[in-house]
Amino acid sequence: MLQQTRVKTVVDYWHHWMQRFPHVFALAEADLNEILKVWAGLGYYTRARNLHKAARKIVDEHAGAFPDTYSEVRALPGIGRYTAGAICSFAFNQATPILDGNVIRLLTRLYGIQENPKEKPTNEMLWGLAAELVKTADRLSSGRAPDCAHLNQALMEMGALVCTPKAPRCGECPLQHHCCAYRDGLVESLPNLGQRASMTPRTFAAFLIHRQGKWLVRQRPNNGVNAGLWEFPNVEVSDGTLSPSELLSQMLEPALPATPEKLEHVGTIRHSITRYRITLHVYHTSVPMPKHRHHHRRHSSGTWYRPSELEGLAFPSAHQKILRRFITTPPSTK
Ligand code: SF4
Repeated sequence: MLQQTRVKTVVDYWHHWMQRFPHVFALAEADLNEILKVWAGLGYYTRARNLHKAARKIVDEHAGAFPDTYSEVRALPGIGRYTAGAICSFAFNQATPILDGNVIRLLTRLYGIQENPKEKPTNEMLWGLAAELVKTADRLSSGRAPDCAHLNQALMEMGALVCTPKAPRCGECPLQHHCCAYRDGLVESLPNLGQRASMTPRTFAAFLIHRQGKWLVRQRPNNGVNAGLWEFPNVEVSDGTLSPSELLSQMLEPALPATPEKLEHVGTIRHSITRYRITLHVYHTSVPMPKHRHHHRRHSSGTWYRPSELEGLAFPSAHQKILRRFITTPPSTK
């Protein structure tokens, strides 16, 4: 939950999650839609799906007990090399390495590694160094003290608190006498992270379409970005040649049973995801009820829901924002 999110944001989610899924069996048995709903707003929904899959695997293959070997931990959905190393060293004091941004910074400076640590051979070399260090701690230990856990924790803490990205505290650093970057005056230039990939701006138009107390939303397909989540109809504004109403009718016709009345720009939501900086222009409109009696709640453009029903659906965070900002606190035009 804490990945990419502040502790303050997570606390309430954590309590809610633990109330609803107090043990691994509850999580394994839960319906994915409910899990996604409890997770909604934290973003990166793959993590919620993976938690669910991992819980199932733990129940099915390990009788509900968390596994304690590296290969079994690594085989759980959502657990990669770093997380498996962290779990096995912290929880079981095994000699498994970890390498995150903090450890990379510390090791590249300490050993004076000038190659880009994101490039594969250098990255592998750093994993090798981290493995050597934790194995050495294990070898030198008395067999009782949790030295692997301490070593890995210390590497992370050193990177986070002493060997910081800006203005590292070399004067107080216990490793100063061994540090190649300090000796060679390279502290400022390491780690060599190359050119940062720039963020690509993308602009979308999202439509709040209102019909007699209900709003049109649609569910994303079960694969791809935000799979299975709900969203307000939206479309990428590629080159600005089409007006918002042209975009809307292009997207919804002929499924929308009535032509929208005037479209009003009610606000803009900005957010960033991976390497995209996204601007979402939000438009509001009302459509009349269709004339023929047998209109359906669900059609190919989406489904009509009341605000109270919308509250029960899982939206990606940008659309969650739209819901809170414009529907649960409705626009004045309504
Ligand atoms: Fe980092 Fe400075 Fe310590 Fe070297 S001496 S490890 S650069 S804090």
